[in-house]
Amino acid sequence: KPKAIVIGAGIAGIASAIRLSIKGYDVDVFEAGSKAGGKLGEIKMNGFRFDAGPSLFTMPHYVDELFKLAGKNPGDYFKYTKLKEVCRYFYEDGLRLNATSDLDRFAKEIEEKTHSTAAEVYRYLKKSKTIYEVTHRVFLERSLHKLKSYLHWDTLRSIFRFGQIDAFRTQARANQSFFKDKRITQLFNRYATYNGSDPYQAPATLNVIPHFEYHFGAFIPENGMYGIVQALLKLAEELGIRFNYNQKVEEILYNKEGKPKVKGVKVNDRSYQADVVVSNLDIWFTYKNLLTGIAEPKKLLTQERSSSAMIFYWGMDGHYSDLGLHNIFFAEDYQKEFNAIWKDKTISSDPTIYINITSKQLRTDAPAGSENWFVMINVPANSGQNWDQLIKEARANMIKKISRMLNRNIEKDIICEQVLDPRSIESKTGSYQGSLYGNSSNNQFSAFLRHANFSSKIKNLYFCGGSVHPGGGIPLALLSAKIIDDDISSVVH
Ligand code: FAD
Repeated sequence: KPKAIVIGAGIAGIASAIRLSIKGYDVDVFEAGSKAGGKLGEIKMNGFRFDAGPSLFTMPHYVDELFKLAGKNPGDYFKYTKLKEVCRYFYEDGLRLNATSDLDRFAKEIEEKTHSTAAEVYRYLKKSKTIYEVTHRVFLERSLHKLKSYLHWDTLRSIFRFGQIDAFRTQARANQSFFKDKRITQLFNRYATYNGSDPYQAPATLNVIPHFEYHFGAFIPENGMYGIVQALLKLAEELGIRFNYNQKVEEILYNKEGKPKVKGVKVNDRSYQADVVVSNLDIWFTYKNLLTGIAEPKKLLTQERSSSAMIFYWGMDGHYSDLGLHNIFFAEDYQKEFNAIWKDKTISSDPTIYINITSKQLRTDAPAGSENWFVMINVPANSGQNWDQLIKEARANMIKKISRMLNRNIEKDIICEQVLDPRSIESKTGSYQGSLYGNSSNNQFSAFLRHANFSSKIKNLYFCGGSVHPGGGIPLALLSAKIIDDDISSVVH
């Protein structure tokens, strides 16, 4: 059997390992940490369970696809339900909106409670759909770096429609033209943060993101987000894939005579041979730490990183009936918040706060009479800020804001706490500067052109995960594995 090694057991690493195994490879995964999942991890504390990173699950069919490829019934491994209520939005002026998966209801609520109309919402989401139709095959599902991708008829057709993807104005500017009410513009501007970008700089092409949520839907896995990892691990182990934990890869080995070809990896000074190597690391660390004697793609590696996050995991005594599974407490001045993050590299005193409470749906995630709050704000990537000070200030501002907007002193209900910041995101998941999604998409170039999924210098070396093409977030990370899979069939034999 040909041999494959995957470096890193993040979601894309696990998916790549499964795909390679199904292709007939004997697969070993080397993971630096003691568990699989990477950013998609979980935290347990005082009887509470928290999903550590991602909380919004979209495009579940990309997960199901892996079970189907292996000839299994996805439902035997992995169950999830579609959310009826996608998100609750709270504004400082007292406005509250419930985004429901029933779009007519949501549009009607917007019309009844704001100066915007249902027609504005439909027009906007129609545009979102068009952008999806034009971009998904070209930018998401295929390599942008292979000539053969451009020879597909549907790619060519998409290229003729590029004028429709709204790449030449910012998302915020575009959204202003869709909605009369500034608060609805703000609601849809927030989607830029789904890949760690700034709506006041990023191209309006990012308006594709709401299509994932409003057309395909938002979901919750039966065992929480970490349940995605558990289900895929079960499949991977059944396929005979070996997971080697606490094994940090030190070097990618390749043939230095003749045309470079990958040979394997070095772990703890020991060499492991392989015909194919897939790196699931942040591409920055792959070049800086694992590859020697190979020219770096300087332009890509020096690009601005996506934003990071500060997260408070709070075990809360009591029930908050105003809150649902996903909740957003908007900043009063959104542009000021993004200027603080992107220009001043700090945190605004009034940040938009996201609260995810899985125990609203998964009762065992919190002890009786309590709730598990994942409370997150967007923050800049780490460039040496005084994070201890910023955590102290942000915590106080967040508690004040949530208490004010819910009209209830929340601080007295916090019974246990953990904090994650850009420093710990980097040290725990190997993400350079703690950025959540690799490079930012704040300009057209960076939005579309990430590092390829294969090495142009070393044969049979591949790259997957949120820092390479097609981008960050679970669905795109899973697509990176699929693109590699499509390519490998034609490369190794
Ligand atoms: P990663 O998760 O980056 O894992 C890489 C793995 O490689 C890690 O396990 C690491 O330990 C390992 N590793 C590193 N160095 C080495 C080495 N030298 N040798 C061996 N192993 C090594 N996405 C969504 O879809 N929805 C969301 O709601 C969402 N919210 C998020 C919130 C937060 C706070 C965070 C952190 C992320 C969020 N994301 C979200 C993004 C999503 O988590 C990531 O895009 C995705 O999980 C990235 O997966 P990956 O395959 O790139 O691997």
